[in-house]
Amino acid sequence: MKIIMLGAPGAGKGTQAKMIAEKFSVPHISTGDIFRANIKNQTELGMEAKKYMDEGKLVPDELTVKILLDRVAKEDCANGYVLDGFPRTIPQAEVLNDALTKMNDAIDYAIDVDVPDENIVKRMSGRRACVTCGATYHIVHVPPKTENICDKCGSELILRDDDKPETVLNRLKIYHEQTQPLIDYYTEKGVLKTVDGTKDMNDVFADIVAILQ
Ligand code: ADP
Ligand code: AMP
Repeated sequence: MKIIMLGAPGAGKGTQAKMIAEKFSVPHISTGDIFRANIKNQTELGMEAKKYMDEGKLVPDELTVKILLDRVAKEDCANGYVLDGFPRTIPQAEVLNDALTKMNDAIDYAIDVDVPDENIVKRMSGRRACVTCGATYHIVHVPPKTENICDKCGSELILRDDDKPETVLNRLKIYHEQTQPLIDYYTEKGVLKTVDGTKDMNDVFADIVAILQ
C-alpha cells in the first residue's frame, strides 16, 4: 500500500498519516520530519534545508528527492508507506513516478485533505511540536496533559518558527502555486481521493479508512 497525503500546510496530513501508518503497519515518512531531525543534529543537509524552511519556502527538489528516494529504498518500505509532505512539486512527483515505474509499481492512493485557507492560519498558530520526539499537539484540539510538555517524552513543546502567521501565509501562497497542481496530476492518474479535513480528526480518519478498505 503506497499512499501520498496531499493538502495545505496544517491541513492534518501528519495527523492522518500517523494514524494510517499505525492501522496498516506501514512506515510514516515525512520529509519535513527528516529535515527537522537533520537541523537538530546540525548536519550539512539540515543547515542547507533550514535556510529555506525558516522563510516558508520549499527546499530545492534535488535535495528533497534524494532523501526521499533513499528513505523509500529501505527494507521497511517493502510493503508500502505513507508519504506526508512529499511530493510538493510536479518534478518531485515525476521522479517518484519514474522510480516506481522502473519497479513495475505505482502509487495506490493520493489523499487530499481539504481545508480552506481561512482555517489554516488558526490551526497552525495552535500547533505545538515536541523539540525532542516531534510529536504534534494543538492547544485546543489535541492539548497535551500538562501545558507545553510532551505526553510521550516529557520534553518542551514549541510553536515552530515556520508556523508563525507571517510565514504561514507565505507557505500557503507557495502551496497554491507549486503543490496544488498535484491534485490534477493524481486525478489524471486515477488515484486521487478527497476528504473533508475540516471535520473532527477521528471522522477524517474514518473517511480515509473507508477509502483504503
Ligand atoms: P500537516 O501535517 O498537514 O502540516 P498537522 O497534522 O500537523 O498538519 O495538523 C496541523 C495542526 O492541526 C496540528 O496542531 C493538529 O493537531 C491539528 N489538527 C489536525 N487535524 C485536525 C482536525 N481534523 N481538526 C482540528 N485540528 C486538527
Ligand atoms: P512540513 O513538516 O511537511 O510542514 O514541512 C516543513 C518544511 O520543510 C516545508 O515548509 C518545506 O520548507 C520543507 N519541506 C518538507 N517537505 C518538502 C518537500 N517535499 N519539498 C520541498 N520542501 C519540503
